[in-house]
Amino acid sequence: MTRISDVLRVKGLGVSTIDPDALVRELLLVLAAHNIGAAVVVSGTDVVGIVTERDVVRGLHRVGPALLEQPSSSIMSTEVVTCLPEDDVVPVLRTMTERRFRHMPVLDDGTSGRMAGIVSIGDLVKARIGELEDEQAHLQSYLAAGP
Ligand code: AMP
Repeated sequence: MTRISDVLRVKGLGVSTIDPDALVRELLLVLAAHNIGAAVVVSGTDVVGIVTERDVVRGLHRVGPALLEQPSSSIMSTEVVTCLPEDDVVPVLRTMTERRFRHMPVLDDGTSGRMAGIVSIGDLVKARIGELEDEQAHLQSYLAAGP
């Protein structure tokens, strides 16, 4: 079983955050500079939303180029779904697939509200493929050993 903490160990801890008042053009700078698709929107120590490249695309379609001068809060999603380091990769992957989003912030623990990192659907698919390959190799060597 691969846990979210195993994925974070490989990809690294930390999350790119942005202030709700930061303009969309500033958000683009953060996404481009870090080569990422999502930023967590934080006000003080509170997580107030998540904003991804998909929100920018939808916003541009709706508002046009004037979107770049609007605050990131105008396009963020406010009901942020999170996971925990001890969660198994498979149910988290299932939630992302069912709810149709590709990013999930990882809380440090259940109570503090601090974030340990963020995982993307790509990180989880990669981890799951590695896990299935290991299982297959194990089964093949077991069968090759014979009775
Ligand atoms: P994504 O596929 O991650 O680019 O996101 C698709 C939509 O889901 C966007 O509107 C995001 O703001 C939203 N979204 C992404 N991740 C989450 C999350 N963990 N919790 C809630 N909404 C999210």
